Amino acid sequence: MRDRRSIKAGIVLALFAALTLLPACGSSSNTDGAASDDSVNTTALDDNARQPSGAGTDQTGTSADGDTSSSTISSSTISTDPTANPGSNQNQSPPPTAAPYVPRPLTPGLAGKVIVIDAGHNGGNYSHINDINQLVDAGNGVTKQCDTTGTGSFDGYPEYAFTLSVALELQSTLQAAGAQVVMVRSDSSGWGPCITERARIGNDAHADLAISIHGDGNDAPGARGFHVLVPVTTAQNAAMVPTAQRFGSLLRDAFGATGMPLSNYLGSNGIMYRGDLGGLNLSVVPKVFIECGNMHNAEDLALMRTGEFQRNAANSIATAMANLFG
Ligand SMILES: [Zn+2]
Repeated sequence: MRDRRSIKAGIVLALFAALTLLPACGSSSNTDGAASDDSVNTTALDDNARQPSGAGTDQTGTSADGDTSSSTISSSTISTDPTANPGSNQNQSPPPTAAPYVPRPLTPGLAGKVIVIDAGHNGGNYSHINDINQLVDAGNGVTKQCDTTGTGSFDGYPEYAFTLSVALELQSTLQAAGAQVVMVRSDSSGWGPCITERARIGNDAHADLAISIHGDGNDAPGARGFHVLVPVTTAQNAAMVPTAQRFGSLLRDAFGATGMPLSNYLGSNGIMYRGDLGGLNLSVVPKVFIECGNMHNAEDLALMRTGEFQRNAANSIATAMANLFG
């Protein structure tokens, strides 16, 4: 319940956040629509200033928060159905490049495994700025917003819709292979949950593996491709880091089958070590994030908005999981 005054205050805050972000959006160093957790902030924070020393050297000179650019999205133009309006992307995107189809990996290795799928951000975050801006302990000495809006394409295809589409495809694929799937969210109607809750869901499920799915929003010229965000060791997550890092490499190796290239702007050979993400710092079960592509790059976006790519992304993730457990 919100009264008129709080709504007005929220609007003012949102406008302020958008205005303060304008310079960052034009900066070539500002990127990654990454995880809310991970990344982005609607309040235009400088992520570099918050990077702990434990974070990987890969991020030197870059901000992992591509999601900051999400303020350019108007909620009135957002389509929550990623496949409903494939032709709306007219001027800036070439026709999607055909990606090879990846068969579903119905391997025995996935049977009985508990997998948590964390679709980044949420559709209601835009209308709950005060809620998602509440500060939480992200572990490893880092304080972050509860969640962020995420990024999106310039023509209004939001990251939260993309991440949910891939997450639902992955859910189907894993269930078909006999896995027990726990979804952090199964629709885009709410806000959050906070990054702390996203980690807790995996912990409480005693998951064998958890993955957080994202799309980036980097404005550096020519920046494109996918990268996997893997944890560094912190006080809470030490036991799971080796498995998570191994899975990160397997995921990097498998995801190329989607036709998306390795990132040419963040990480090293598709891997980026992060010590500032609550979803990784607070998880006691193996967890990684993936930035499936750069939604601010026309070539990446043309792929990402297709159902074929989304299925291939899901199947590539499942393949990597099967390889981990196989
Ligand atoms: Zn994100």
